[in-house]
Amino acid sequence: MSKNLKATLRYAATAPSGEQIEKIKSVLCGKFGVSASDIEVEIREDSSIGGGFIVSCGNFEYDWSDAGRAKQLRSELINTRSDDTDPGRIISMFSQKVEDFDTSVGNREVGFVDWVGDGIANVTGIEHAFYGEIIEFEDGTRGMAQDIREDHIGCILFGNDAGIRQGTRAVRTYKEAGIPVGEAFIGRVVDALGMPLDGLGDIKESGYRSVEGRAPGIIERQSVNEPLQTGILSIDTMFPIGRGQRELIIGDRQTGKTSIALDTIINQKGKDVICIYVAIGQKASTVAKLVQTLKKTGAMDYTIVVSSTAADMAPLQYIAPYSGTALAEYFMLQGKAVLVVYDDLSKHAVAYRAISLLLERPPGREAYPGDVFYLHSRLLERSSKLSSELGGGSITALPIIETQAGDVSSYIPTNVISITDGQIFLESDLFFEGMRPAVNVGLSVSRVGSAAQTKAMKKAAGSIRVDLAQYREMAVFTQFSSDLDETTKNQLRHGNVLMELLKQPLEHPLSMHQQVIILVAAGSGRLDMVPVPKVRECKEKLLKFFESEHADICGELERSGEMSDQLKRRILDAVDSFMEDEKE
Ligand code: ATP
Ligand code: MG
Repeated sequence: MSKNLKATLRYAATAPSGEQIEKIKSVLCGKFGVSASDIEVEIREDSSIGGGFIVSCGNFEYDWSDAGRAKQLRSELINTRSDDTDPGRIISMFSQKVEDFDTSVGNREVGFVDWVGDGIANVTGIEHAFYGEIIEFEDGTRGMAQDIREDHIGCILFGNDAGIRQGTRAVRTYKEAGIPVGEAFIGRVVDALGMPLDGLGDIKESGYRSVEGRAPGIIERQSVNEPLQTGILSIDTMFPIGRGQRELIIGDRQTGKTSIALDTIINQKGKDVICIYVAIGQKASTVAKLVQTLKKTGAMDYTIVVSSTAADMAPLQYIAPYSGTALAEYFMLQGKAVLVVYDDLSKHAVAYRAISLLLERPPGREAYPGDVFYLHSRLLERSSKLSSELGGGSITALPIIETQAGDVSSYIPTNVISITDGQIFLESDLFFEGMRPAVNVGLSVSRVGSAAQTKAMKKAAGSIRVDLAQYREMAVFTQFSSDLDETTKNQLRHGNVLMELLKQPLEHPLSMHQQVIILVAAGSGRLDMVPVPKVRECKEKLLKFFESEHADICGELERSGEMSDQLKRRILDAVDSFMEDEKE
């Protein structure tokens, strides 16, 4: 043990007596395991502490000051914010708090900033911080221990670093980074730390959850068994998504990725699903527009928007999806179904790369750090369908990835493809051909969702995927030939009509029974004679016709989720009579 341990004692008004100094020495002896004679105490006056005194020794600080105690009491009181508004009760509650307030010595480990910049601070002197611990800086800014090294810790900062300089004190808080959660968040727009951004006032939290939650284990889960309908015909029929599934939306820029997620959120109206949209590195104007659409369509009533825009510092963009998931877990554990959209994880990986490079971690492929796979796997593993014993709640994840020139085999896309249970691949060429949503049928897949598809939908979808694949092939082959036989012509006509039916405008989700009716009508070939430019109009009319003349069929489909042969017959008969009317 080093001889001559140096301690500093700061006092405000009255210098401590000899007896007090002896007492302090004995506390330090116990802590550092040295004898009293080895301790040297420097005594200094410091009016900023208000009263009492603070002893600093090595990395530890013992706070007996008025300022320190006031701070402790303040945080105690903040933690006991209650829903009670009766002033009498509030006063009694507060006085109770004050009476119970244990004026324990604030025993803290402190360090000093060694380097700061770009939302990162390196702190030396703190030896025992754990990964993910909140570190508080002198000016009140908070950070999180992200990189633990032998001689220093690297913190990512959740606030402005303007007030932090070399030599600024940093204090351990012994608390894991987390965000407030609760029902009151529904309908709100918050930042990555759960603070409101929509100017609608404070949000009363019902709890606090660590941002880096543990993913449910195998025993705690059950397999996906309930559909999560997107309302988009091409997805619900061919690549169905189940509650608890993770389905990736992938494509180049401006191919309608966000639109698919947004339409899915809009379609959850009345389906008892809580939606969380996490914006990562998006333009603030894009997020504002999206919130506007959610409000306009009434979807904001069951949606939370967690926004970290491109203007936010990398640490906030990095933490945002974890915060969104913490909020989602709060609802899942209550047995509710939750849908989370991460828009988008490419920008998340870029933010993490920036942080890692600043923390001087070795760069790997495409300069991403070695653990970039774990970045997304630990996030998406938290989406699951809980077992019935645990309430049967679920988190369905729709992560979004932006590709460059359709390259799905670059680093981050392949990582996320392998983590998720399928992907919806959007293609620029299709998008510009007017095929919107631009779902590429050949490259998209859903690996678990069909287990959750309703029986009616499964039966109605039938061979549509194969038909479309054959059509695409045939269309390419026959592009330049003029002389086609009758079967080929029929096949092409059928394919053209199918493609036309799969086009769907924004904010027009189709319900399950509408999709089944379209599919049954198209599958039977009864719409093949409709000229292509008229298909869309014909589809609208057909759906209206069913709604007004055959509400019983629609009702039965929705109620039972099944389609007997007899019901299918009735649908076909109705389609026939509709086509008769159309002819006249
Ligand atoms: P970014 O890469 O910029 O995030 P994105 O892939 O998320 O783009 P969106 O913003 O969803 O794409 O859509 C791009 C444009 O395409 C928008 O103007 C949107 O209105 C339009 N669009 C998307 N889907 C459809 C659709 N089904 N019908 C008509 N227009 C659509
Ligand atoms: Mg987008």
